[in-house]
Amino acid sequence: MNIHEYQAKQLLAKYGVPLARGGVAFTPEEAEKVAGDIGGSGWAVKAQILAGDRGRAGGVKLVASIPDVRETAAGMLGVSLTTPQTGAGGERVTRVYVEEACDIDRELYLGMAVDRVTSRVTLMSSAQGGTDIEAVAAGRPQSIRKLAIDPDEGLLSAQARAEVEALGLDGAQADAAERIMIGMYAAFIDTDASLVEVNPLVVTRAGDVLALDAKMSIDDNALFRHKEIEDLRDAEKPGKLERARHGFNYLKLSGNIGCLVNGAALAMATMDIIKQCGGEPANFLDVPPVASREEVAAAFRLVLSDTDVDVVLVNVIGGGITRCDAVAEGLGAAYQALGRNVPLVVRFEGTNRDLGKKTLRDMGVQFTPADNLREAAEKAVAAARR
Ligand code: GDP
Ligand code: MN
Repeated sequence: MNIHEYQAKQLLAKYGVPLARGGVAFTPEEAEKVAGDIGGSGWAVKAQILAGDRGRAGGVKLVASIPDVRETAAGMLGVSLTTPQTGAGGERVTRVYVEEACDIDRELYLGMAVDRVTSRVTLMSSAQGGTDIEAVAAGRPQSIRKLAIDPDEGLLSAQARAEVEALGLDGAQADAAERIMIGMYAAFIDTDASLVEVNPLVVTRAGDVLALDAKMSIDDNALFRHKEIEDLRDAEKPGKLERARHGFNYLKLSGNIGCLVNGAALAMATMDIIKQCGGEPANFLDVPPVASREEVAAAFRLVLSDTDVDVVLVNVIGGGITRCDAVAEGLGAAYQALGRNVPLVVRFEGTNRDLGKKTLRDMGVQFTPADNLREAAEKAVAAARR
């Protein structure tokens, strides 16, 4: 899971990483207020998207007046920003970060990632930071230093010192950069990160060392123990995280019938029959055989989080470790907790078919039962037309 620059900065600040003063804004008015609160005479307005290389795409702008902060934010908010890292459609900007601008003397690079070969966290550093680091990495890889960190010892002060000196820093700047490396490593370990990157780490003309940009990814498999990070997810993309959290196979399609099915082959058959009956699936979600009641509930929420969905077709064949009544319990729990009252067509077959339907009824779930797939599809298509 990637988090926004401003979220990564808030996190790194707790680990003593020095930053320029700044704040997040969701509207042009808020951006104006943040700039006023920060004070100063110049500001950077930075589009917050979960992809890098914004600078070259117009997602980082320096402005010299508070009205310009507002106007620049207004120009970024609500607009899709396409960078070499977003894919062709770009990513819609829902918030900007407003930061006090600084005069840059040097731009350095610091990154930490798990090396796939050694499985160790590796500190990467380069004196040639900034927007061209990818080109530097491709063209002159030797200018990026790498240090594999021993997991038992952590990043030792003497090791950090050697990296800092290789960057050409000394005195108070070297002390600051060393603290930043140690802080980044502690943040990496504490949050189960897979990437922590500060690019650029700048030395300002005034001689301060600051993390001007920050990027963090958290290992999806560890999110369960970082609720506070999970809560940072983009509210506008609820499905993305549910998917990551539960590892569901989920496919978004263009129609309005949500499909909750167990098994990919059954899902394909379900989609085909819906189409034969004149309907269009909105999505399909493959409930894994080992799904717990909570996971089924999450799967159902995920299908319903798609606002295109007008009706949900549940097509579950019990067998092996999948029991219809267990699926029904999850469905029922999610249904009870939901605000949305979407028509539900349920076809259960195989293990505990009848107990599954009884469980739903006992939990007060309103649903249309179907005895076979064609009947289920016909009923779902009819409900979707209403
Ligand atoms: P990215 O392009 O998504 O990596 O966004 P960054 O936050 O790294 O910004 C891109 C570039 O904009 C940096 O490498 C800097 O050169 C420049 N930049 C960002 N903030 C400031 C600032 O406050 N002052 C100056 N002079 N340049 C800045
Ligand atoms: Mn950057």
